[in-house]
Amino acid sequence: MPATYAVPVEQSRGRRYPEPAHPYRNDFQRDRDRIIHARAFRRLENKTQVFTKRLSDHFRTRLTHTIEVAQISRTIAAALDLNVDLVEALALVHDIGHPPFGHAGEKALDACMREHGSVFDHNLHALRIVEHFEQRYADFPGLNLTFEVREGIIKHSRDYGAAEHPELAEYLLDQRPPIEAQLIDLTDEIGYNTADLDDGYEAKLLKLPKMREQVRIFERFYRDADAQHPQASEKLKFNEALKRMLDLMVTDLIESTRVNVERAFANTLDDVRTFPSRLAAFSPEVEDMRREAKQFLYDNLYYSSPLRPEKLDADRVITGLFQFWMKNPDTLPPSYQEQANLEPLHRVICDYIAGMTDNYVLEQYKRLLKK
Ligand code: MG
Repeated sequence: MPATYAVPVEQSRGRRYPEPAHPYRNDFQRDRDRIIHARAFRRLENKTQVFTKRLSDHFRTRLTHTIEVAQISRTIAAALDLNVDLVEALALVHDIGHPPFGHAGEKALDACMREHGSVFDHNLHALRIVEHFEQRYADFPGLNLTFEVREGIIKHSRDYGAAEHPELAEYLLDQRPPIEAQLIDLTDEIGYNTADLDDGYEAKLLKLPKMREQVRIFERFYRDADAQHPQASEKLKFNEALKRMLDLMVTDLIESTRVNVERAFANTLDDVRTFPSRLAAFSPEVEDMRREAKQFLYDNLYYSSPLRPEKLDADRVITGLFQFWMKNPDTLPPSYQEQANLEPLHRVICDYIAGMTDNYVLEQYKRLLKK
């Protein structure tokens, strides 16, 4: 039985362009499938999560990170009797708007846009991808996703003010998104905090003693694993600890969201939408430990010197290409030149670069700027 506060697919606000029902897939299942079959989804394979391929081939990419987030999200959604199809679609689409080179790429692109009084926002970019840039259907532009998936793309990680974003007015900006969408930001956190500890340790950039000293949630489980398997290798004990840490965060998110729903007397989807704050949350204790783990990653991994060459590359390549195309718009592909008649040139260039994979943006840089 779905929870009374879950999103019933039969009551979806529907698609922008009405389509006949499918005989054996509901609308959210179709949206999930459309996302998986999108070009922008396939490009996630060649977009950096944290590590580029320079260090190893088996670290997470944006694509494998996305699959991990979808797995975690499905488990939590099922335990809370939410709409699992909607949650899965939202998890699979959550990083589709990310530019090449991970967060360094995002920062560089945003800095370029700020020179022109604008910004780069990956949620807004994701919406533009699914609404306009994907060209798959003869009848309409984009993927023609249901309202709930488009709303979740915009609202899964933060609230947008109606005053600053009149173009988003249809997305009920004065209301909270359904719990299905609220979950995604938190499952993303669970996914990358544990995965980045894993890849960082594997890359030998994170050291076990420091991790044990500074990440309490990890230390607690490492000690257990050590007591239970004293003969096991350090790596296996590490794996045990990390797996239990992930499990604790998942369990806590399920339980604490359930408690929040009860305390808020949220019996219907409308109650969720009109409640003053989001109901999906970790308990205060686990939230504290999550923040500590994240801080550890910032202090010891994301800005560490071994990863600096990639950051500098990202900045040089993206800023270089952006400025080159601002000066030489006639070297853009014809469809982008046409688009520049309808929108500011900086926006068109930003969209073009944001869609690129790491490989492709490097190729462009070599072709146009490294002569
Ligand atoms: Mg993510």
